[in-house]
Amino acid sequence: MALKGRDLSLRGRVLVLKTLILSLVWYHASISPPPPNTIKQLQQIVTHFIWKGRHYHPKAKIASLAITNGGINLPIIQVETDIRLAKTISRVFNPYTPFWVDVSNHLLQSQTTLNNITQAITQKRSTNKPLEPLCSCLAACKRIEKKQPNTMAAQPPLPVLRNILRATVPAEANPLTFPCVGQISWSEIFHKHRHHPASDTLWLATWERLPIGRPLTTIAPDSSNCPWCPNEEHTTTHFIQECYTAKMVWDTVHMVYSSGTHSQPPPSIPDPSLSPSQHRLLCSTQSAALTTLWNAFTSRAFGRNPTPNIHEIAKQLLERLLSLRSLDLLIDPTTPWVPPNRIQHIITIAINRHTPTPTP
Ligand SMILES: [Zn+2]
Repeated sequence: MALKGRDLSLRGRVLVLKTLILSLVWYHASISPPPPNTIKQLQQIVTHFIWKGRHYHPKAKIASLAITNGGINLPIIQVETDIRLAKTISRVFNPYTPFWVDVSNHLLQSQTTLNNITQAITQKRSTNKPLEPLCSCLAACKRIEKKQPNTMAAQPPLPVLRNILRATVPAEANPLTFPCVGQISWSEIFHKHRHHPASDTLWLATWERLPIGRPLTTIAPDSSNCPWCPNEEHTTTHFIQECYTAKMVWDTVHMVYSSGTHSQPPPSIPDPSLSPSQHRLLCSTQSAALTTLWNAFTSRAFGRNPTPNIHEIAKQLLERLLSLRSLDLLIDPTTPWVPPNRIQHIITIAINRHTPTPTP
């Protein structure tokens, strides 16, 4: 596949998959069901493309959820095929049925114990007779009707059918909290103001699928330990909240936000009291923090570079904050960013607060 999606974000890759790579498959799937081994192969291609060949990622049933429910809308080929086949055959419920309905009903009557398509759908029945695409269409309707009876007769659109067939939504809200900020809703993870690499890191962290700690035991130079804290087992919580590098970074962006808005960040996002320009600043500063921390870690863990010290991390953070500041002010000049020299001053305060005292 020429298009590897190397520089695309997770959602960017999902979009490319759906609109470019799979659109031809969808076109054929509504009348000509792919055989089971082709569905399996297609799913493997999808998985490989989305995760860039990595094995450590959230399960497909999680990734296939809608954004508002904690997923990234990853297409499940079996579900996508089923809903298109079901949609095609749901035309039997039209007042004026197309010609193929009579032909198919005749086939069912003469070769199976079923009387007609409508009866087969309402009784949740399919057939093993090799009558494609009829057999696959009925099997798809059976799966839908079993999950939600009397659906097909209403001829719902594809998104409704997809929601019936995809995995159940987890009961808990996003368990991840931001230091100094608090909880963040599912849709906020991928909010348009948040920068794509930060959204991806945040989403993987929420599902405990950032490659950190144990999965890196045999790969990273520091094994499963934090590169900055010797003998400290590395975890997502340590990386995002507990490490002194994380504390320095979050303290900085917290001060940048407070200083610019003359207010504390809200305890949860979205917050109704937040103005659009404050929201933009909050998303940008959080994105800068996450991306800086993640890049510092991966440069050591995967790039095998020397562990960046707190001054080097602070320098990276400053560069990122300044570039996001310029971008934000271009888009919305009222974004409450403080001047560059103030950001520089805040970073110096944060370094002094969080540099660990050397042990003699
Ligand atoms: Zn640490």
